[in-house]
Parts: sequence; structure tokens; C-alpha cells
Amino acid sequence: MLTYADIEQAAQRIRGAAHRTPVLTSRTADDRSGAQLFFKCENFQRMGAFKFRGAYNAISRFTEDQRRAGVLTYSSGNHAQAIALSASLLGIRSAILMPHDAPELKIQATKAYGGEVIIYDRYKENREEIGQRLAQERGMTLIPPYDHPDVISGQGTAAKELFEEVGQLDVLLVCLGGGGLLAGCALAAAALSPSCKVIGVEPELGNDGQQSLRKGEVVRIGVPDTIADGAKVTHVGDHNFEVIKRHVDDIVTVSDAQLVSTMKFFAERMKMIVEPTGCLGAAAAMHGAAPVEGKRVGIIISGGNVDLSAFARLVA
Ligand SMILES: *Cc1c(COP(=O)(O)O)cnc(C)c1O
Repeated sequence: MLTYADIEQAAQRIRGAAHRTPVLTSRTADDRSGAQLFFKCENFQRMGAFKFRGAYNAISRFTEDQRRAGVLTYSSGNHAQAIALSASLLGIRSAILMPHDAPELKIQATKAYGGEVIIYDRYKENREEIGQRLAQERGMTLIPPYDHPDVISGQGTAAKELFEEVGQLDVLLVCLGGGGLLAGCALAAAALSPSCKVIGVEPELGNDGQQSLRKGEVVRIGVPDTIADGAKVTHVGDHNFEVIKRHVDDIVTVSDAQLVSTMKFFAERMKMIVEPTGCLGAAAAMHGAAPVEGKRVGIIISGGNVDLSAFARLVA
């Protein structure tokens, strides 16, 4: 079972490789939410998202044999880049399965970080099957995007740093896709600020996590239609749900329109580019989806990787 000690060890491993990202505040955001908000800015993390933490932590633990054969993963998003960059930094080969219709920008970025990109057809092939087969053929170690203990403990270091910097909080808002970030951050909160309420935030149309928490078991949905591409996940992971059940108080949802409004807020007022998924926590605080009034609230801004033309279209 994962504990806070795993997060402390992850923090040691990623030290010097990952950035200790800044915690920013905004009077305007405080006025709008009626709370005191502390933004942990993982949009300024290496490769532009918190995913570097989990990927680097997981690969750092490889044995000599695992290092020689390399790492394999499947992802169309930030985890692909996180694995490619972490592997390069550690001198290890990486292979990344990406869907044929992944944004060209993300394919190019993954290659630029040194990853070998393997394209598959997301409508005809199952990435988990191909991933397992390829990993076996090549002897590579598969590190999935969220359902892995070392990924979870790596992601939890973001909240560890936040609590170390700002002290006790009343509420922590964390965006939720497969649950790597939420599970890790909830473990850190339980150890460092035990009375803090931990709340996951999902897109309205992808509320599988909310359904799962209420039902007490992992609920699967269809691929959700939302601009929050980092949360286009059909179900939370098993390792993740184990932790979420124990340490997460509630899961709330926000609409795509609220995400866009929050993206605009960050750009105009805080001069930051935040990707739609990265806005989930802040949108919940500023649009009344989570009870924050009068409270000290931590918010993880998870990433900033959005194609600039897509960004312009969304905020226009
Ligand atoms: C992956 C990702 C998420 C969701 O994280 P999970 O660990 O899958 O819950 C949120 N925001 C961004 C920017 C991401 O890349």
C-alpha cells in the first residue's frame, strides 16, 4: 500500500531533475472566489506539466537490466513527453505508442525529447494490448500514464512542495483524469495537512471519478467530449482508486465554458498560458463548484501545453 514515505522517496529521486515550481497568488482571483488561493504552477514544470515528476521517479527506479532494455508507454499527451524526456536524461531508450490522429505538435515534441514514436490506429487497435505485446517482444518496461505506484508517488511531490511552502490549508483542489495526480496529492495532504479537505475536479461530461467515489467502485464511461484533453479518460486506475477512496473527500465537476473563462483569466490577469485541463481546479474555485469561501485553498495548475492556435480559438 502506498504511503507518504513513498512520496518522500520520490522527492529525493527527482531532486535536481524536476523544477520546484512557483506558488503564485492573485488578489483578483481571491476577490472572485471569496477565498485565499495558492496556485502551484506545474505549467512551469519541465516539459510543461507535472507528468515529469511521475515519469522521472518511475524510470529512476529501474534496475540495470531494465535500463538496458528501455521504457515503453502509451499516451497521446503529456505523459508521452514526460517519459521521452525523463528517459533521455537518464540515458535510457524510450518507445511511445501514439494514436495516428495525435496532434502533430505532440508527436514532434516527443521525438525531439528523444522518444521513438510508434503510431497505432486508435479506432482499430487497443493500445494496452499493443503496449504489452511490444514491451514483451523488446523486453522493455511499461510505465502507464497513471495506474502505477511510482507514477502516483512522483505526482504527489507537487502537493508536498505546496504544503512545505504555504503551510496548512483548508482545501486542496486537484484536477482528475486517471487519478495519478489526485491520489499522490491526497497522500501528501493526509500527512502534511491532515484537516485539509481534498477535492478532485473533473470535466462535467467526464465525471466517471465522481460516479466511482459515490458508488465505491471504479465506474467506466465512454470517451468524454471535453476540451480538457488531459482528462479524456474513461475510468480511474485501480491503484489510484485505492488511494482516492481513502483520502479524497469529494469530486466535483466544471463545464468547458468555465474552463475557457479560467484560461482567459490566467492569460489576462496572471500572464500565464494554462491548458484547459490545467484550469479544472481554479475553475471550481472561481465558479462556485467547490465550497471555498473564507478558506485557504491550494490549487494545482497541472500543465500549460496547448497549441497556440487552439488557445486563440478557445479564448476568442
Ligand atoms: C495527465 C494530466 C492531467 C490528469 O492527470 P491524472 O494523473 O491522469 O489524473 C491533468 N492535467 C494535465 C495537464 C495532464 O497532463
